[in-house]
Amino acid sequence: MTGGTTNARKGLSSYRRVVIKIGSALLVDRKTGLKSEWLDSICSDIAALKSAGVDVLVVSSGAIALGRTVLGFPTGALKLEESQAAAAVGQIALARAWSESLSRDGIVAGQILLTLGDTEERRRYLNARATIKQLLKIGAVPIINENDTVATSEIRYGDNDRLAARVATMTGADLLVLLSDIDGLYTAPPHLDPDAEFLDIIPAITPEIEAMAGGAASELSRGGMRTKIDAGKIATAAGCAMIIASGKTDHPLQAIEQGTRSSWFAPSDAPVTARKTWIAGQLQPAGELHVDNGAEKALGLGKSLLPAGVRRVEGHFHRGDTVAIIGTDGHEIARGLVSYDVDEARQITGRKSAEIEAILGYAGRAAMVHRGDLVMTGAFRSKASRKEEVVHAG
Ligand code: GLU
Repeated sequence: MTGGTTNARKGLSSYRRVVIKIGSALLVDRKTGLKSEWLDSICSDIAALKSAGVDVLVVSSGAIALGRTVLGFPTGALKLEESQAAAAVGQIALARAWSESLSRDGIVAGQILLTLGDTEERRRYLNARATIKQLLKIGAVPIINENDTVATSEIRYGDNDRLAARVATMTGADLLVLLSDIDGLYTAPPHLDPDAEFLDIIPAITPEIEAMAGGAASELSRGGMRTKIDAGKIATAAGCAMIIASGKTDHPLQAIEQGTRSSWFAPSDAPVTARKTWIAGQLQPAGELHVDNGAEKALGLGKSLLPAGVRRVEGHFHRGDTVAIIGTDGHEIARGLVSYDVDEARQITGRKSAEIEAILGYAGRAAMVHRGDLVMTGAFRSKASRKEEVVHAG
């Protein structure tokens, strides 16, 4: 542990690059539509941050909520195509509102609509990142949302918490602020448990912290604490701090500066590289490599995964896709970019690297997943292997 500056809570203007995620309910009133006064107030907060030299990116929800107000859709759940139509209508209004409000402070806005594929597929990810970085370079504020009009249920983020965390890691931001109607993390749901305690500093997202966020993510818990903790895992592992705060008052960023109650999640002391963060944060690995005991140990020691240590291959993947590496107990231990297409991977499974040329007809990479393309993801496992490393070193 290095402690010191990275682990201390500090004012918003001391950060270099901040991603602010804004929940729909803050921006849109079901009956009256856009809350323009509130929007103007946060835009002047953003202007203040920018004049303090901070790069600001906004991940704004609200397209569907705004569109359904404009279209007069009844309350209640919408069908996928209805919410896509609502997003198509709402996104125009949303982007214009941001652009107009920011222009009052002389700031230019640029709209970026992302789908899951834009952050998961390496080439598209690099393209999207380059555009966002260019906007920042010219002093503009990127206004980002999921491209709901084309994203279908199987291939979408569905919540902007995790999308915002991916945007934070892809742009090297050092702070992610999640603004919604929840003021932070409690030890239990505060409306159900009178003994629930508020947590203002979270040094690390441990299994206990995850348990406080409730069960697995589902359609119902969308945008709830679960996706916020998931976002925290993605961001903090990449060395980006996260704040969960209420945005219910005007000037919500100023309020955080002035010490209003909020939860601060410390960034990891030993962040993994941007490339490895990208690998680890993939939401849908294309396949699985089930490995044996020996390979599991070798991975824990930072070695590459050789075909000899693979017992079984699952899924449909191409060379360069992200795969999950599964240990002998059936749990994921690592992720990495695989060196072979699935058919080839099957043929060389369990075989020595020296045999690859004879089997495939060409001399491929010796490793099924090279250590430079590999990141340990199972917290328990990596702890076990760290222990082993000590034993090994001693
Ligand atoms: N992308 C959705 C919208 O703009 C919001 C998703 C979310 O609230 O997390 O309406």
